[in-house]
Amino acid sequence: MSTLLDAPASSTHPSSSSAIRIPIAVAHGDGIGPEIMRATLSILDAAGAPLHYQPIELGEAVYKRGITAGIEPAAWDVVRNNRVLLKAPITTPQGGGYKSLNVTLRKTLGLYANVRPAVAYAPFVPTRHPKMNVLIVRENEEDLYGGIEHRQTDEVVQCLKLITRPGSERIIRHAFEYARLNGRKKVTCMSKDNIMKKTDGLFHQVFNEIAAEYPEIESDHLIIDIGAARLADSPEIFDVIVTLNLYGDIISDIAAQVAGSVGLAPSANIGQHAAMFEAIHGSAPQIAGQDIANPSGLLLSAVMMLLHLGQNQVAQTIHNAWLRTLEDGVHTADIYNPAISTRKVGTQEFAQAVIQRLGREPNQLAPVRYAGKPAAAPAHIEYTRREPAIKELVGVDVFLDWKGLNPDELGEALRQAGTPQLPLSMITNRGVKVWPHGLPETFCTDHWRCRFQAPGNATVTPAHILALLAQVHAQGFDFIKTEHLYHFDGAPGYSLGQGQ
Ligand code: NAD
Repeated sequence: MSTLLDAPASSTHPSSSSAIRIPIAVAHGDGIGPEIMRATLSILDAAGAPLHYQPIELGEAVYKRGITAGIEPAAWDVVRNNRVLLKAPITTPQGGGYKSLNVTLRKTLGLYANVRPAVAYAPFVPTRHPKMNVLIVRENEEDLYGGIEHRQTDEVVQCLKLITRPGSERIIRHAFEYARLNGRKKVTCMSKDNIMKKTDGLFHQVFNEIAAEYPEIESDHLIIDIGAARLADSPEIFDVIVTLNLYGDIISDIAAQVAGSVGLAPSANIGQHAAMFEAIHGSAPQIAGQDIANPSGLLLSAVMMLLHLGQNQVAQTIHNAWLRTLEDGVHTADIYNPAISTRKVGTQEFAQAVIQRLGREPNQLAPVRYAGKPAAAPAHIEYTRREPAIKELVGVDVFLDWKGLNPDELGEALRQAGTPQLPLSMITNRGVKVWPHGLPETFCTDHWRCRFQAPGNATVTPAHILALLAQVHAQGFDFIKTEHLYHFDGAPGYSLGQGQ
């Protein structure tokens, strides 16, 4: 079986095995953050990790000073200079106006790969899936997380889902490179391309292209809904999963939960220029300050960080001592089980138990073997832009805010507004065709997509679209946005609009 954290790194930081201390930025966070960070750093220090910590302040106190991003400019400088951040969880204050610091950090620093191992530690942590060892590689920058949202009518808001070829290629290559370097056998792609044929369709297509370059690694694709169901039911059938941002967000929490405890799960956010390591759980304010939180998620994130920094030996020492502690039944309250545990300990006492076991290995759980191995992390992944496709403008979707209820009435009026080059061809409401030949059962909002398309898909020009919009406006319609219809190398670059 593969080890927990194989080597989840990329080579964005110079590796060092010398006595020189590697500077890293450290954020102590909110809630349980400071106490689990203290425990984690005490273990790193006792194991002789050659690190120099540069503390930064992130989170609640910064938000409350009126900085809506939760991070001050000086802290950005420290993170950018160090290129590695070990981060404890932070509390996002309630109420509007605060931006997600995690999303800001990931996007600003270009941390495109979110790598989350979910491993079972049976029988020491109860789980129904004792053989589970899944690595989820989640795209971290794109999808619905662009935060591009608009209210367009009284009744309708939209969120723009952007999927790019460079972003898809990079994350999928990262997953395959990772699998190859770490002896993983299979990469499964999850998407919803039966519905989102263009966006998720591109991700799936890129997956197929890249999978062909790794013939020694098995590959398959599952629709995300059945994929998530199988992950919850039989996670042991998965090895590496690569998926889009939103799906990855959801399934990585499912995976952590079914592995046994969210408190044990680490994560790495990897980019070309920087990397950030953090537990997947939050700041757990209800148990803050009581010395009962489990520091393991943050500690295992620190192990991922050490591998990223090329500190394989110390990563191995800490990881094996941690496995041994778990195996000896020394457990924090969240995983304490009288049937298997020998001692219930607090956060700092757990850290001391790990420190006492430095240099020892587990007997029943498989020990990890990182030392002496080459960096098992994907190197920087280059993207080469392809020759541009031949792009032809063949029509336009004009979106209207229209308060009427009868699509036939709208269709008749817009037929008058159509031009010889761009006649009205279709109207949809929430993606369902309502003109021509709509059904009276279809519920309609005040948001109408009106498609004007050149007969025979003849090519039109932006001037034709401007002339059409002038007509639509002259007829008194409130157009709220337009989307051009293009063919790329003769294939339609737009959905056909029936919805499902
Ligand atoms: P949470 O993960 O903090 O807590 C969920 C449950 O798990 C709680 O019962 C908590 O007590 C328990 N728990 C979490 N970590 C634990 C640990 N290490 N040991 C023992 N028990 C643990 O999630 P939440 O309650 O939804 O969020 C609390 C705050 O954390 C919110 O402000 C949220 O915005 C923030 N948050 C931050 C991050 C981050 O900084 N990466 C991630 C998620 C949530």
